[in-house]
Amino acid sequence: MANKTAIIFTGGTISMKIDPRIHAAIPALSSEEIMAMVTNIEKFSEIEIINFSNLPSPHITPKMMMELSILVNKTINREDITSVVVTHGTDTLEETAYLLDLTVNTEKPVIVVGAMRNSSELGYDGSSNLSAAICTGISKNAKNKGVLVVMNNEVNAASEVTKTNTLSLDTFKSPEFGPLGIVDNDEVIFYRDIVNRQFIDTNEIEEKVGLLKTGPGMESDIINFYINNGYKGIVIEALGRGNIPPQMIDGVKNAIEKNIPIVMVSRCPTGRVLDTYGYEGGGKHLRNLGVIFGNNLPGQKARIKLMLILSITNNMETIRNLFEE
Ligand code: ASP
Repeated sequence: MANKTAIIFTGGTISMKIDPRIHAAIPALSSEEIMAMVTNIEKFSEIEIINFSNLPSPHITPKMMMELSILVNKTINREDITSVVVTHGTDTLEETAYLLDLTVNTEKPVIVVGAMRNSSELGYDGSSNLSAAICTGISKNAKNKGVLVVMNNEVNAASEVTKTNTLSLDTFKSPEFGPLGIVDNDEVIFYRDIVNRQFIDTNEIEEKVGLLKTGPGMESDIINFYINNGYKGIVIEALGRGNIPPQMIDGVKNAIEKNIPIVMVSRCPTGRVLDTYGYEGGGKHLRNLGVIFGNNLPGQKARIKLMLILSITNNMETIRNLFEE
């Protein structure tokens, strides 16, 4: 057979069933048990199983994500491999997918997939998601698209996709621009492309990066807590176009004086941050203080990107360029 797909299993609901003693889902299925449910897949691709972990995704750390990236890079660069599919819990799937997107340098397809229903539930979606992911990976059209997330027959870019619903099968959405394509009857159809892709050349990750969401009346205390506890960078999900309450300004100044980058994104689900407002705590004021603007990334993705950048530099201007250019 011409196609060979390496499937790297990390855990998540796709690997879970209900434990009758505690009446709750835990990782329990082996990779072989999962693959036995993906019937007829051998007609499309030879499969190689690689076991990375069997963890719920809230247990996966940025360090593990980086180890996974090293494994994906090694596997995808093998001549006999057509594509790599990574199974993952959906809770932090977008972080892992984005980290892979930034650090795996290949034109071959790399797909991240999960499930919203475990194998003890009616309508387990793990096998259909996995077969759609494998079909996407062997499609020539899926080359040069960066890392893709395939769930519920939709193909989304790792750089854009986010988990939008705690329960529904079509939880993975790209709220700003929509999916790249669909999987229809085992065929992948793309409707648009990704124009801006970034590669960060690193094998390491700086885990001490804080994340906080802004609300009215918030002060500098959390920022100062991060500074005093050795954090190397902070991501702030600011209000609207990129503004914060004036009481947070002292914390921002304190961080920047200590060469701790503050990356600002918006708590709005879509749209860029910009220096539109000139009042105290407005975007213009923050720009003048040296805050870095994180474009339209959600906070959790900006945090992953800052973790990767801080593993190679703590030069403020280089960090700024990697976020703003
Ligand atoms: N809590 C689970 C996890 O992320 C949810 C899932 O896999 O869908 O591992």
